Amino acid sequence: MKLVCLLGATGSIGDSSLDVLMQQPDYFRLHSIAAHSNWKKALLIAQKFKVTRICMFDPEAAKALSSALGHPVLVGIEGLQELASEPEVDIVINALVGSVGCLPTLSAIQKGKHIALANKETLVMAGPVIQEALEQNPSAFITPIDSEHSAIFQCLAGSSNHEVEELQITASGGPFRTWDLEAFKNIRVQDALNHPVWNMGQKITIDSASMMNKGLEVIEAHFLFQIPYNQIQVVVHPQSIVHSLVQFQDGSLMAQLGSPDMRIPIQVALHWPERPKLDTPKIHLPTLKTLDFYEPDFNKFPCLALAYEAGKQGGVVPAMMNAANEVLVEAFLKEKIKFIDIAKHIECVMSKAPQINSKLTLEQALEADQEARTLVQSLI
Ligand code: NAD
Ligand code: MG
Repeated sequence: MKLVCLLGATGSIGDSSLDVLMQQPDYFRLHSIAAHSNWKKALLIAQKFKVTRICMFDPEAAKALSSALGHPVLVGIEGLQELASEPEVDIVINALVGSVGCLPTLSAIQKGKHIALANKETLVMAGPVIQEALEQNPSAFITPIDSEHSAIFQCLAGSSNHEVEELQITASGGPFRTWDLEAFKNIRVQDALNHPVWNMGQKITIDSASMMNKGLEVIEAHFLFQIPYNQIQVVVHPQSIVHSLVQFQDGSLMAQLGSPDMRIPIQVALHWPERPKLDTPKIHLPTLKTLDFYEPDFNKFPCLALAYEAGKQGGVVPAMMNAANEVLVEAFLKEKIKFIDIAKHIECVMSKAPQINSKLTLEQALEADQEARTLVQSLI
């Protein structure tokens, strides 16, 4: 029986994770949960799963939940880090959204835990720092929850990197794949939130519409699998049935297929290399008939090109790009900027990123995150 800490329990990945845990009562027990401010949903989860170790990031929400439960509730980033470090916990599922996920991931690594990672922003912001922490704590390891990275992880299945020619990350293309570039200046919030395949949190849904999500995933793949950027390609695949592929040197192209259902990669991340039964929709190939694949359009989706550029430049550039994107997505959702301003302002922030000549430190990553937030506010 493994004890699980679920950070981001009230979100979309949180929901899917709880479903997987419910289906696997012989393997996992939920030990602790964390969320931002939805304390009523956290209360329901705590009661259903009999969890007493809880963190609400927002102090008001923590107070409300604490009085509803009649016992203390942890608060803020320290609370998230405390839950991720608890000695009883075997697996930390990091389903937080945004760069707030970075420090709890590091805490879990420092305690030698298994981290099932959905929070791609952790690796974008501080990939080299995470890598170094993993080297220093060899009992800690990350399994990816992001469906594309889960697919690559499964296709690699322990093959060595020199056998890999390239990783091919699939992208649904989002709601604007077939729109004319001319129409992009009129994109409304509801258009961008209308993802054709996946039902996800708001931030990743907007990132999918701009294809910044795919850009973040390219950087995530670089750090997870230690593959250079010129060997990571993006291929648009609107059906989201092929979740990604690995082209091997010998000509074999391995793919992982499945319904677009996040419970599958979550279960893989928790159980690998075992594959117990999970109640999910299965694919019947004849009903699909066709699977389509296209080159990505970097012209229509400049965020994808910017992310490649940030990854290749390295240093604090990915952290600054990531933080600027977080602020801009929020501003777009509040209708303070246009959709096309997201890429424009990110490019501006990236152009102001300082060069660093040594390996990225945690302090530099955190500072760059803050600096980008200030910079981008002045642009908005
Ligand atoms: P979401 O917005 O639905 O949920 C985010 C969760 O994080 C919520 O529980 C929220 O309360 C919590 N949270 C946010 N800020 C917090 C803070 N400061 N302190 C504590 N908790 C905080 O987002 P999501 O769609 O579940 O995505 C979560 C992560 O998983 C993101 O990094 C996303 O890119 C990644 N991801 C999501 C999907 C998906 O299908 N939803 C797929 C692949 C990867
Ligand atoms: Mg993904």
